[in-house]
Amino acid sequence: MRRLNRTLVLDVLKSGDGPMSRASIAQATSLAKPTVSEIVEDLMAEGAVREVGMGTVASAGGRPPKLLEFDARSHFVAGVHVGSRTTTVVIGDATGKELGRESVETDGLPAEENLQRIAQVVKATARHVEAPLERFEAAGVVVPGLVDFHAGVCLLGPNIGWRDVPIADILGQQFDFPVFVHNVSQAAVVAETLEGAAKGESEVVLLYGGSGVGAGILWGGRVFHGSRGITGEIGHCRLPGETGRCKCGKFGCLETAAGASALVARVWRGITSGATTSLAGARRKDLTPQVILQAAVAGDGLARGAIAQIGRNLGIGASWLVNLFNPAILVIAGGLAEFGTLLLDPLREAVHEMAMTHSYERVEIRAAQLGQNAEVRGAVLLAMQRAEIYYRIVFQA
Ligand SMILES: [Zn+2]
Repeated sequence: MRRLNRTLVLDVLKSGDGPMSRASIAQATSLAKPTVSEIVEDLMAEGAVREVGMGTVASAGGRPPKLLEFDARSHFVAGVHVGSRTTTVVIGDATGKELGRESVETDGLPAEENLQRIAQVVKATARHVEAPLERFEAAGVVVPGLVDFHAGVCLLGPNIGWRDVPIADILGQQFDFPVFVHNVSQAAVVAETLEGAAKGESEVVLLYGGSGVGAGILWGGRVFHGSRGITGEIGHCRLPGETGRCKCGKFGCLETAAGASALVARVWRGITSGATTSLAGARRKDLTPQVILQAAVAGDGLARGAIAQIGRNLGIGASWLVNLFNPAILVIAGGLAEFGTLLLDPLREAVHEMAMTHSYERVEIRAAQLGQNAEVRGAVLLAMQRAEIYYRIVFQA
């Protein structure tokens, strides 16, 4: 109860239009004045709330009330997204607003060295925005791969070459604040729900299609972690008829037929078998999803057909998610989502065709809105959720 009341007071102070008196906080939250005063005392002692002057005297007379405001610079959080090529560090204030950002290349270094370097970047960026490290509440780290959420370990990150990397422990030696580790899809579903395509919803599933394929599940407003944190691994469910070897060590996973490299492989097969295409003569190494998209937009049949088939395969995975979770919103995210209707139309058709009518009829399928910023925003927002001082009311991760 105390937690909830504290959340109410903080929320009113954070979202209000300027400084407020204790009486107006009591009115806005429907809490008793002594309860508000007690909570305000605690928040002031922590430095999260400060007095900023006097209000006007009510017509009945009496002393003018002291006005309070939330101090956005009282605490800070760090968000880190380790991408397959680039690692992005963001420093956020106590409201989650971005104060500074730095990007470095991910490639080349072993995981431990990479993390040491990330710690240095966090420290330098914090210094740059004048955010003292002792006022940091938490860091959120987002990695492309399997994560043991409770232990803060990246179990397997094939695209960055990580295996059993104790991220929370290694970064924990550099910092006095807790470090929470999530995977890309979990971060993206949080960011899209709080700030993007699924704003205001609490039953949201996000299907991520890029180099990897996975899902983030927000259930009752909370990230669904399962027993160990390994949930939403739809990319590693077998697609009947597929036999390709997957990075996870198994065969025929959805990811091998619906990920970015499946798209490239499909177009390459078309080129080498002599299909009529504007991409004829392209070298294998120059064939990227972006090049294929450009050709498709210009009307190339091979490129369009390949994108449609990848969309359909993703749609098969999406139909499983719809049947299993019956979300209000299914967000399609990741690099492939940026292909627009070329990919989303066949995806929607597949879901319509394959998911149970009752599961599907009210599900809205939307493209993600935050693009490549979703992961690092999710890292910042998850750090905020986990930082005990900012118990949010929308959800707890
Ligand atoms: Zn797999």
